Amino acid sequence: MRYIVALLAALTALPAAAQPLDTAKRLVAAALADSWAYEFVAGLTTEIGPRLAGTDAARRAAEWSAARLREAGFDEVRIESFPMRAWLRGTESAAVIAPSPQTLAVTALGGSVATAPEGIEAEIALFRSYGELLLAAPGSLDGKIAVVTQRQTRFMDGTGYGAAGPVRRAGPSEAAKRGAVAYLHRSLGTADHRLPHTGALNYQEGAPRIPAAALSNPDADQLERLSARGTVRVRLALATSAVESAQGFTVVAELKGSETPEEIVLIGAHLDSWDLGTGAIDDGAGCAIVAGAAKLIGSLPRRPKRTVRVVLFGAEEMDYSGPAYAAAHGGQAAKIVIAGESDFGARKVVQIQLPPNATASMFGRGLGAAVAPLGIVMSPAPALTGGADIRPLQRLGVPVMSLRQNGIDYFDIHHTANDTLDKIDRAELAQAVAAWAATAYLAAETGVDFRALGHER
Ligand SMILES: [Zn+2]
Repeated sequence: MRYIVALLAALTALPAAAQPLDTAKRLVAAALADSWAYEFVAGLTTEIGPRLAGTDAARRAAEWSAARLREAGFDEVRIESFPMRAWLRGTESAAVIAPSPQTLAVTALGGSVATAPEGIEAEIALFRSYGELLLAAPGSLDGKIAVVTQRQTRFMDGTGYGAAGPVRRAGPSEAAKRGAVAYLHRSLGTADHRLPHTGALNYQEGAPRIPAAALSNPDADQLERLSARGTVRVRLALATSAVESAQGFTVVAELKGSETPEEIVLIGAHLDSWDLGTGAIDDGAGCAIVAGAAKLIGSLPRRPKRTVRVVLFGAEEMDYSGPAYAAAHGGQAAKIVIAGESDFGARKVVQIQLPPNATASMFGRGLGAAVAPLGIVMSPAPALTGGADIRPLQRLGVPVMSLRQNGIDYFDIHHTANDTLDKIDRAELAQAVAAWAATAYLAAETGVDFRALGHER
């Protein structure tokens, strides 16, 4: 309560003619003292838990979030639904059958077809890199279970995940085109625990759809050692299912602009999660960060000139919500002045990337001054992406930003059963809220035109 009183005093004490930078600094201070974002992600992960897109839990998560946002004082809160195919995990198991029987820790990839109930048993063909799989001749994997054990390199900015992405997304179809009957790969993950990392695959048109699962990293190591010693037989059993005509739910909350409400600063995150953990760092934290940032902006005595729109996307993991949002609101693209998504965990923001030429603009200098005390560096390089759900808007010409967090251990936890609330540090989460609050506020208040800056030389 003391905090809330202090916070309200700090915000309402703002003089009416305060410069935007002064207000941004006050938002930073208020964010660091505010626990709303942490309480949001704690409530979401406790009262709802896992939120696989297309399930009843995801619908309840949308209703729960909308209720919290209404309580937080947003001007308008709505839930937008879209059609999608829901994928559901069932039982899953794998084992080495010969030469030395033992259990393997695996989890089905999102979208994977099921095996027959008794599973698939076959010899494995092991590749230490994805490139090596692509070099395999058609027919060379006939009747085999293809295994790719390529490692993901640890980077603070997640570069290793992007580089390893095709192993999971495209690997199953590439193996199937060469005759494989099932696909296993080393998890896209950087830890040495025995929790496999799930994630979506993308079957290619025209390739047979084969069951596919991720191995924990120690199990991938074990298969490497076994295959170096001779022939290995593995059994894989996955009982996945799908609901063809399900619904996804995206939550939208707005602070209406006080002067040019038709101009929109869009800050997003994704509300859906994988089913293995409770989706705390991916991406309950992101929802808490952007909603918490906007809530603080909404606590100011006056709304910023432009509208601040929070979008909690409902099916990022299965690739539905970004396209669905752009399909429904693409007509507004010219009025979205900037967009970004918080989807890289709960740690501190370390760097901000803006649209071309914006870092050196008055806007970029002001933002840099507001966030420098948080230890944040303004990147000289422009943002290449605003996040998976933002990409379809970016294709429509919307300028994007990227508030890059410290992700050094993000891929130890990402998409595993270990993605739970205890991994979130309150102070780091609050720092991220502060960074988003300052950025969104200045973009909404200063009238900066990122499109015009992009055309400067
Ligand atoms: Zn995510």
